[in-house]
Amino acid sequence: MCLFRKKPKDLSVNPFYKEGNHYVVYFRCDRCGEYFRSHLRIGYDFINDYDNPSAPYRIDKVYVGSRCPNKLHLVAAFTAGYKVKTVNLDGGKFVSKEEYEKALHKEEDEK
Ligand SMILES: [Zn+2]
Repeated sequence: MCLFRKKPKDLSVNPFYKEGNHYVVYFRCDRCGEYFRSHLRIGYDFINDYDNPSAPYRIDKVYVGSRCPNKLHLVAAFTAGYKVKTVNLDGGKFVSKEEYEKALHKEEDEK
């Protein structure tokens, strides 16, 4: 795989990776360190917020891992062009795609 240097992604501003008609977001449980990956389908997983024309799309999802009962609550608001306006994750932290993939390979190696 070719790794070219890009400006580091600021996950606190925009943790979402666009892949076709999906947004993909990676994060980690604060309590047990389990990694998560979530695919958000444009037009399906986004909630229409008609009362808020400056940010008409929202994400509001709760995730529970397989290792602990901690709930991770992802809330985000998007503009009409699907640009992130605000994003917040309770119970976890956003990680980069690179960190997620590295951690996944490490876990596979340990099995
Ligand atoms: Zn956990």
